[in-house]
Amino acid sequence: MSLSEIKSRIAAAEAAANRTAGSVELIAVSKVQPNERVEAVLEEGHRVFGENRVQEAAGKWPEFRERFQGVDLHLIGPLQTNKARQAMELVNAIHSVDRPKLATTLARLAQELGQCPDLFIQVNTGEEEQKAGILPADADGFIQDCRDLDLPVKGLMCIPPVDEEASLHFALLAKIADRNGLAGLSMGMSGDFEGAIALGATHVRVGSAIFGDRTYSA
Ligand SMILES: *Cc1c(COP(=O)(O)O)cnc(C)c1O
Repeated sequence: MSLSEIKSRIAAAEAAANRTAGSVELIAVSKVQPNERVEAVLEEGHRVFGENRVQEAAGKWPEFRERFQGVDLHLIGPLQTNKARQAMELVNAIHSVDRPKLATTLARLAQELGQCPDLFIQVNTGEEEQKAGILPADADGFIQDCRDLDLPVKGLMCIPPVDEEASLHFALLAKIADRNGLAGLSMGMSGDFEGAIALGATHVRVGSAIFGDRTYSA
């Protein structure tokens, strides 16, 4: 599939849900993709990208940014506290604020750096043991704690369990965001972004549908 096809599918999903045209941000997830594929999407004029590892992002984006103006980079994968400073200096948004220790580290660094990326709190909607994120029952308290730390919390993020109906998880995330007065909803990937838009996604994270399959090398 191509970038323009994905964009028109997003536009159609916005219209079907009576959402404002252009209200959904497409994050092109470029992790593990060969640089020439990423470059092709940059050449097409797209500027919003997602990476899930700080090290990988630091390896390719400074150079792309020198060549392409206005890159908006989103970290969508787990963040270790010892990489938090590097992440904050590199990305415009972090979608994976998933535990108190990370929140306090981000708050301290925000003071020190005088800036902070937009933050999304990751909610483990499926309560999966192997998955990062705040449990739904703890979400309201954690959101409040982040606000008390003066962190710029823009919204919530989830990754539904692979074997479950994603829409149930999107609806749960939307409900938690709504009752906490949060506007941002980072949800929906290649296989389910239209359903996510129907349930209020403001940011969809689409990788393989734009770039093709990721071939993971050892
Ligand atoms: C890789 C990844 C995506 C993109 O997945 P696709 O199925 O390739 O669209 C979205 N969100 C997160 C958190 C990811 O790690």
